[in-house]
Amino acid sequence: MRTPIIAGNWKMYKNVAEAMDLANEIKRSVFDITNVEIVIAPSFTNLGDVGEMLIETNVGLASQNCYWESEGAFTGEVSVPMIKSVGCGYIIIGHSERRKYFSETNETVNKKVRACIDGGLIPIMCVGETLEEREAGKTLEIVKTQVEGGLAGFDEKYLEKLIIAYEPVWAIGTGRTATPEQAQEVHAMIRALLKELYSEEMSSVTRILYGGSVKPDNIESIMREEDIDGGLIGGASLKSDGFVDIIKTTGDLYAKKGTDA
Ligand code: PEP
Repeated sequence: MRTPIIAGNWKMYKNVAEAMDLANEIKRSVFDITNVEIVIAPSFTNLGDVGEMLIETNVGLASQNCYWESEGAFTGEVSVPMIKSVGCGYIIIGHSERRKYFSETNETVNKKVRACIDGGLIPIMCVGETLEEREAGKTLEIVKTQVEGGLAGFDEKYLEKLIIAYEPVWAIGTGRTATPEQAQEVHAMIRALLKELYSEEMSSVTRILYGGSVKPDNIESIMREEDIDGGLIGGASLKSDGFVDIIKTTGDLYAKKGTDA
């Protein structure tokens, strides 16, 4: 069974004191959860302090972006070795807000995934269609192109720890969630694509997260779908109660799946 992941994307919210408070509340509430991989992604300015607080805890740290060069005259950018040095184990790459507002493309995502893996960190590579693309019946085609583009040139062994997050753009921050069936359809397509591009083994071990207005009251129905291995949570990760509820519901379901199997 694939261990589920719940990752919180704090976007551009929280100053350092607020981030420390939230991380501390989460850390204290989830210390005994062992069957969910828990990750939080504060903004760059908070990674160092939050990272120190998370040392030797079961809460992992992610950055929300990276640059693909390891150092140089790239004003304003942050490299993978820098991100690693503050305790991050993961990097969110190609979030739709970065694709939309900062012109990220499948090619830049590909370079960032490479830099992330070369640097020893785990990429959480985001894909997802816009509302217009969904309404035009292009969802599967768009997501397929994003997955293929983001992973172009990598072999299976290289992608051992890859995490993919399917996040329909129209569901992010809108309160409009994909139905579990809509999400499952795309997750199943991504899994089938991984099998076609790599192997059955690779397709069965890769975790694919769903993101888009996940809340404590809809996580259960989403997590019941066969190919959904967790969530990338935006708004609902900014308050500890809701985020911890999502983690606990996921852990309970996973424990039950284990008993049913
Ligand atoms: C996100 O930022 O990745 C996200 C899914 O946001 P929200 O949960 O607020 O829709």
